[in-house]
Amino acid sequence: MRIVRTVGEVREALREPRARGEGIGLVPTMGAFHAGHVALMREARGASGVVVVSLFVNPSQFNASEDLARYPRDEVADARVADTEGVDLLFAPSADELYPPGFDTWVEPGKLGSVLEGEVRPGHFRGVATVCAKLFAIVGPTAAWFGQKDAQQVAVVRRMVDDLNLPVEVRVLPTVRDLDGLALSSRNVFLSEVERSVGLALPRALDAGAAAHASGADPVTAARRVLDAERALSVEYVAVAEFDVPTLVAAVRVGATRLIDNAPLVDNGPVTTDAARHG
Ligand code: AMP
Repeated sequence: MRIVRTVGEVREALREPRARGEGIGLVPTMGAFHAGHVALMREARGASGVVVVSLFVNPSQFNASEDLARYPRDEVADARVADTEGVDLLFAPSADELYPPGFDTWVEPGKLGSVLEGEVRPGHFRGVATVCAKLFAIVGPTAAWFGQKDAQQVAVVRRMVDDLNLPVEVRVLPTVRDLDGLALSSRNVFLSEVERSVGLALPRALDAGAAAHASGADPVTAARRVLDAERALSVEYVAVAEFDVPTLVAAVRVGATRLIDNAPLVDNGPVTTDAARHG
């Protein structure tokens, strides 16, 4: 696996495979890899001639009150994981490489980017959409892989790809969870043992919501009931979002850590059991 840091190096590395007509798979990430990232890499590996993983903690998707400096970073460990998974190119640019002095053009999602996560984190999806558009332009992937864990991000990216006629296929994989049901997230390292057990109310609430939905009851009420019973967490939102499929989405705070999770309301029965589990 090659690690490259500049746009020029990416273009050069992909020139020949592109000319040969090989499929180019892209997995955009912010690093601190866990089994969720690995699942995306494996799918991309199986479906593409060349696999590019981008590792970039995108400053523009953090707003002023969020701690960009606190985001977990471990490029050495990440490079090892990506290499083991057969990734060809790890693109790990500096912030200046993607946002050089004078940078002044943004992709601004509409309504979809201003609700839910977009309301709690103003400017977040503008940062996400802009960096994804840039990565698509730099890599020119045939397909790009995203996780259902960030359901609204998937919706925003799909909308952008449609609206801007970007020639990339957006592929989505189910949320990978720990055995206890908690969705894997780079931010989970911030949770103490007690906070982690408090956070388990989130997947439990989504299960309760999905079960309620399957039996014709209101998923939001059912999910709220579970979350409200857990005094040590604060609820930011619980709602059914009309993404590709209606999706029960929720965000909570446990101590200083935000957790988000969701359950597509498509099939009957609990949601956390049909997603991939990671021991
Ligand atoms: P991140 O590095 O957190 O920006 O995530 C990079 C990609 O991995 C995004 O498409 C996420 O949706 C996806 N991802 C993060 N956590 C999970 C998970 N638990 N299961 C599946 N995909 C995930």
